[in-house]
Amino acid sequence: MRVLLVEDEELLAETVRRGLELEGFVVQVAATGPDGLWLATEERFDVIVLDIMLPGLSGYEVLRRIRTRDVQTPVLMLTAKNGDHEEADALDLGADDYLTKPFSFVVLIARVRALLRRQTPQQRPILSAGDLVLDPARRSVRHGAVALTLTPREFALLEFLLRRKGVVVSKQEILRNVWDAHYEGPENVVEVYVGYLRKKIDVPFGRSVIETHRGVGYRLAENG
Ligand code: CA
Repeated sequence: MRVLLVEDEELLAETVRRGLELEGFVVQVAATGPDGLWLATEERFDVIVLDIMLPGLSGYEVLRRIRTRDVQTPVLMLTAKNGDHEEADALDLGADDYLTKPFSFVVLIARVRALLRRQTPQQRPILSAGDLVLDPARRSVRHGAVALTLTPREFALLEFLLRRKGVVVSKQEILRNVWDAHYEGPENVVEVYVGYLRKKIDVPFGRSVIETHRGVGYRLAENG
């Protein structure tokens, strides 16, 4: 799940980024209006969290331009305190929701998740491979009738592999999409998490849905 956070207050941006990452989101931060606009139109995100007061271009202008360019990514706007007109403006311009600063992180997460759920089923289709079924909107994973409990990162990894099922994906691709573009930790984090996933989706059912392709990457078997 990729979130674009457009926020120029460094400390707030950093706090929100870390919190979202702990919830399993991949977060890209832009600190100016033009950077936010560029990222929003060049890359694919599941949700955009957009501040209004930004250097270069206001959040309103960023929102107006991304909608003009037919980017329909849900947008959660961060408005200033006591800005009733701001909230109305934000919704008029095509924001999907707004949150007044200062906000609690728990509320932010709830709103972001609500926006993800609100997307149409076509935008967030249920993913499956054989008996393995993942519902991105409900954040649930099942093997047949058995509900599985995954951590946010395991969930994100499985979702990514399911979206590319039948295709061998490299560790780098996985890092870029499930961690983030600037991840600088050890690359074996992918192996470690594939191991965690196997313990939950393969081992209990005596099979191996996730194949290792040595020196290349991983492939989720098409039929589960
Ligand atoms: Ca600001």
